[in-house]
Amino acid sequence: MTKWVYTFGSGQAEGSALDGERLGGKGANLAEMCNLGLPVPPGLTIIADACSAYYKNERQIAEELKVQVRAGIERIEEITGRRFGAGDRPLLLSVRSGARVSMPGMMDTVLNLGLNDETVQALGHDAGDARFAWDSYRRFIQMYADVVMRLDHEVFEEILEDEKARLGYEFDTEMTASEWQHVVSLYKSVIEEELGLEFPQDPEVQLWGAVGAVFASWMSARAVTYRQLHNIPEGWGTAINIQAMVFGNHGNSSATGVAFTRNPSTGDKSLYGEFLVNAQGEDVVAGIRTPQSITEEGRISSGSERPSMEKLMPDAFKELSRICSELETHYRDMQDIEFTIERGKLWMLQTRSGKRSTRAAMKIAVDMVDEKVITEEEAVLRIEPSSLDQLLHPTIDPRVAREVIGSGLPASPGAATGEIVFTAEEAVTASDEGRKVILLRVETSPEDIHGMHAAEGILTTRGGMTSHAAVVARGMGIPCVVGAGSMRIDARNERLIGVGVTLKKGDVITIDGSAGQVLKGDVQMVQPELSGDFGRIMQWADRARRMTVRTNADTPADARAARSFGAEGIGLCRTEHMFFEGDRIHLMREMILAEDETGRRTALDRLLPVQRHDFTSLFNVMHGLPVTIRLLDPPLHEFLPKTDEEIADVAAAMGMDAAALRLRVDALHEFNPMLGHRGCRLAISYPEIVEMQARAIFEAAVAAAHETGAAVVPEIMVPLVGLRSELDYVKERIDAIAGDVMAEAGMRIDYLVGTMIELPRAALRAHIIAEAAEFFSFGTNDLTQTTFGISRDDASAFIPTYQRKGIIEHDPFISLDFDGVGELIRIAAERGRRTRNDMKLGICGEHGGDPASIHFCEEIGLDYVSCSPFRVPIARLAAAQAVITNGASIGGHSKDGRDRKPSAS
Ligand code: ADP
Ligand code: MG
Ligand code: MG
Repeated sequence: MTKWVYTFGSGQAEGSALDGERLGGKGANLAEMCNLGLPVPPGLTIIADACSAYYKNERQIAEELKVQVRAGIERIEEITGRRFGAGDRPLLLSVRSGARVSMPGMMDTVLNLGLNDETVQALGHDAGDARFAWDSYRRFIQMYADVVMRLDHEVFEEILEDEKARLGYEFDTEMTASEWQHVVSLYKSVIEEELGLEFPQDPEVQLWGAVGAVFASWMSARAVTYRQLHNIPEGWGTAINIQAMVFGNHGNSSATGVAFTRNPSTGDKSLYGEFLVNAQGEDVVAGIRTPQSITEEGRISSGSERPSMEKLMPDAFKELSRICSELETHYRDMQDIEFTIERGKLWMLQTRSGKRSTRAAMKIAVDMVDEKVITEEEAVLRIEPSSLDQLLHPTIDPRVAREVIGSGLPASPGAATGEIVFTAEEAVTASDEGRKVILLRVETSPEDIHGMHAAEGILTTRGGMTSHAAVVARGMGIPCVVGAGSMRIDARNERLIGVGVTLKKGDVITIDGSAGQVLKGDVQMVQPELSGDFGRIMQWADRARRMTVRTNADTPADARAARSFGAEGIGLCRTEHMFFEGDRIHLMREMILAEDETGRRTALDRLLPVQRHDFTSLFNVMHGLPVTIRLLDPPLHEFLPKTDEEIADVAAAMGMDAAALRLRVDALHEFNPMLGHRGCRLAISYPEIVEMQARAIFEAAVAAAHETGAAVVPEIMVPLVGLRSELDYVKERIDAIAGDVMAEAGMRIDYLVGTMIELPRAALRAHIIAEAAEFFSFGTNDLTQTTFGISRDDASAFIPTYQRKGIIEHDPFISLDFDGVGELIRIAAERGRRTRNDMKLGICGEHGGDPASIHFCEEIGLDYVSCSPFRVPIARLAAAQAVITNGASIGGHSKDGRDRKPSAS
């Protein structure tokens, strides 16, 4: 018989933190805390495999499960001295979902299960507090009806609001026992009216109803969407924890709360959290009452008048602080915990690694290295490379005056400016149209996730640092201000009412997620500081990393930015970008449209000094670092005049007849320019272009060597080669020019000639091409196009459909297709090195900045990756992680199935 149930309680557990796959994160950590001897209410965990059994409706398993759960509950009864569903001291249970990875707010939980018209009396007697018993009962009915019976919770909230209004109360805590009892009868009748069902009185029925509902919630629309967004396999299923209740709603010496062992926003080493007196479960995050700060420090910094837990419940606070540091030491990471205090006694209900802003992640990792808790390599692994984006975000220029129109809590750092919108849908639409928006909500819920993704920033008027908006925004790296209570959202009229202003939809605001401020209009920003913790992490990463990180840069400004981010060379300089600027395009057009070689040479002669100047400044910035320059690549038609007016202008400049020019333009038209007259094909048709570019490069190398004293080694890259003979032809021209320039300058120039591998033929014939090529750079954008036979520009018409229908998991233009395109890269690398074993290999497509693709590059032993300047730190970190984990986190991306590795997410 399979063991479906693992128990925990009274200082020992059948599972541990290592059993996360089976017990789910929550269950495994409850077991672990129990083994540590921490005060955890006893309970049992139904393993996640039972979830799929539930969906298959397997009878025998259901029987086994019943027996094992029964035995587990008997153990809880023994430990607590209470009985489930009967007796003078009734045992109440919570039924809690808990998957392998935390899915915040996605799954449903039922508390106070086991209450009925009889047990509520017994509970009240036993506790000597009827009010507490009836409060628990009404909570149970509401949650159970919502989660299990699928009756919208709003009907209950309405009843409660009406009752409170009738009685003239502001808070739930003012309600008396008999008033709650009355609410319970109203709740029961509304269930009968709405559903034609009685609220189940049999605790056994309640229990299995709740278990079924938690399993069912695994397939709820919210959960499915969340899994898609986070790549969580459906097959994992959720585990279920059934646990003895402890009560935070047991009068004023009771409370419930959440805490982080360090500040999740700044990373400061101080306990951070919120609690509510005489409350239960989700009251803290639901924003029903504004929670109070746990520490005095937190109370003071939030400017709250209401006492902290440190003041109010000093003993429980001390115990909590002690447990928090014990948990941190044990897990060697910052923890996010949930706790309840029942009449002065502290109970631990959950612990897990806490979500944190990138800045906090950096600080915590660095501090923990200094505290000798983790190693430098572990610190490097603790930072999610793509999250560095957050740090590279601009912040508000400290020198500008701030026109503050509202303030709240600094929930997620960084600043953002945008037009205000009031719904997630509007945020999505606006961002599709390329507009930047700030999403305004009273508070957010999982249904808003798409809108939160689309927004530049998020602002809520309710909720604390642990509210949904705050947690999700930090995870996404989006600036966020929550609980801006001084502002009011009038959603119906699409108005935001702030201090002294009323704004309407479309008006621009700026939020400062680090200061918790809302500012009017657009505000001057500054680039982030890249030293401090960031600098240290990057230093450790650089120490661990094997591959070099270069940048794709076409201008000195890009190159300078990239160097400040740590780029160690240029992996791709696209020379065509140099031809579009200013009046260069005229010279370019004249060159292209010239009727013969003489005409072309005349125009090229005038382009030469311009190119030489560009290269000289680029080489100066790079100061001796390697620079790969790709020869002219795009199809010529991209440069051509299009409108009649442009044609007339160019014709006049060239002393040509406009009609004749139009004919020439038409003649250059291509049906599929992507696969047309471009790359080395142009160089072969018009070798004078190559000669000009080569001359510009070599003359610039000479000039830069004189100016900086550091000689660059230009790496000249011939694009779109499929045949060795193509490369031979172009290389011969380059070598000849190099000889000329060296003779003229009287100095030696070291240089390399290589090729981009971006056609399947080139990959397959790499050993032959390597006889002529001194380096390969994988142009994975084109290689993906040509391998799949998918035009990148047309892909958006069907790739999203493919993803939705599960035909592919990832857009191959964003994350490298390891199985297909990757296989070609592997082949080319291997065959190329067979011919020339010291051959330099690199990658310069979009994938060069994608962490998963970088792992792949490490695995197959490339020498460098090259990416856009802002992605350089991401690539440095990902390259280091790839070495440290030995490429272990590569997952297969295609659906071929055969050569797929298990994903490690
Ligand atoms: P989630 O995954 O949404 O956080 P939980 O299972 O942690 O759901 O339950 C939500 C809240 O319910 C917890 O934060 C805790 O306050 C409360 N809760 C859960 N189990 C118990 C229990 N046995 N006793 C008291 N409160 C509980
Ligand atoms: Mg929750
Ligand atoms: Mg929880």
